[in-house]
Amino acid sequence: MVGEDLSVRVRLATESLPESEVVWGEKRRFNPTAAVRFLARRVEGLPMVCVRHGVPATGVVPATINFVQVGSVRMPRTVGLELRKWAREIIPIPPWFRLPDTSAKLRADWPACAACIARFRWLRQLAFGVLLAGPPAIVALFLAAAVGVPHGVIVSLVVLCFPGWLPVGIGISGLMLMAANTDIKVEPIDERPFVVIRAHPRFADATRSERHAD
Ligand SMILES: [Zn+2]
Repeated sequence: MVGEDLSVRVRLATESLPESEVVWGEKRRFNPTAAVRFLARRVEGLPMVCVRHGVPATGVVPATINFVQVGSVRMPRTVGLELRKWAREIIPIPPWFRLPDTSAKLRADWPACAACIARFRWLRQLAFGVLLAGPPAIVALFLAAAVGVPHGVIVSLVVLCFPGWLPVGIGISGLMLMAANTDIKVEPIDERPFVVIRAHPRFADATRSERHAD
């Protein structure tokens, strides 16, 4: 299916996202220059056709994609990009080689079929499930220590919490949330009033016919 996908221009709203919706994240750390300013945009005017499967959409998948500055390009922050960044941070490397901070945010309600909505919900629920499992596990660890359960059980619980939950579980849930949000392939964003995505040919057709109807 992916091989048949087409590049499609989708329209962006002219106004920026409200400041309150942007500050969460990394804007505070991004230092804009004359050449590169922070972008916060929203996709609008999409046809109700599943972006990935080209069937009538039954709902939308609300997603916010962050972009990081790589040279002069704002690249979507995907799981692959994030893993490369982590690898670079674990191996000591000069700071100028590291990926800079988020330089753009893109909000979209992607039209989606039931299967795509289910995938998005499933990934998010799993991610939040892992996040929320940590505190009860830590409480269980303290209770187990207090009532004097066997040493082996305590050690297992400690490993489950650290590093099992912090940082491994938290890192994996972050990646799952990112995977849920970056299911739609978006090309680098710039100052133009549209972004290019990869989408099913029927979604591309529907986008073109809506544009003619405008
Ligand atoms: Zn779909």
